[in-house]
Amino acid sequence: MRGVRLRLLRNLAIAAAALVVLAIGLWRLSSLPCFQLIGELHCRVETDQRVVALTFDDGPVPEGVDMILPLLEREQVKGTFFLVGEVMEEHPGLARKILDAGHELGNHSYTHRRLVGRLPATYREEVERTDALLRAEGVAQPTLFRPPYGRRLVGLPWAVDAAGYRTITWDVEEPFRLEDPQAYADHILERVKPGSIILMHPMYYHREIISKAFPIIAAGLKERGYRMVTVSELLALEGEMRE
Ligand SMILES: [Zn+2]
Repeated sequence: MRGVRLRLLRNLAIAAAALVVLAIGLWRLSSLPCFQLIGELHCRVETDQRVVALTFDDGPVPEGVDMILPLLEREQVKGTFFLVGEVMEEHPGLARKILDAGHELGNHSYTHRRLVGRLPATYREEVERTDALLRAEGVAQPTLFRPPYGRRLVGLPWAVDAAGYRTITWDVEEPFRLEDPQAYADHILERVKPGSIILMHPMYYHREIISKAFPIIAAGLKERGYRMVTVSELLALEGEMRE
């Protein structure tokens, strides 16, 4: 009797350990920028042309938009802004301001929750509510979705795909720590290659450093012969190689 109970306990412990390992594995899998189980994903574009896409996540909030738009204007470059629906509603008019300056808008969910392990209806709602807001701001056909924190497994890519979107992640991410602007710029410049998608967060925590680092990044990219374009422009180059 005792032996049976011990064996049962041991099996339960093994099963629990296996579940923990599986959960950790899936959690890690959910944040890999260049791997996704289903649906169309782009973390960069395969090309030998010196072209990169600048992407700006979160917001829009006035301080962030008022900081980054003039810098982009000064450098004469266009970028792609992934906006959060809830925040768009808090600051009406800001999305339109970005759009009117010639930049591209993408969908970054409605609430910016981690969208893993939720109900299918939640994924749909997160995509569709922001989709409706983007359309109301004048985006005729929004097609670019960036998952909050880059996290996704199966349910979110499914909903993104069903709504006619493509998932866009990145292959070059800004450094998280606030170093000096030169170090911030160098971190990005050392990692770019033809077809890269660069991720920056100009709205909150990194706003201050980006205000100083962006001119260095733009100058560095131009010096290396790179053009800066929107994600849609970059995707259109997919597979284009020089003879
Ligand atoms: Zn975000």
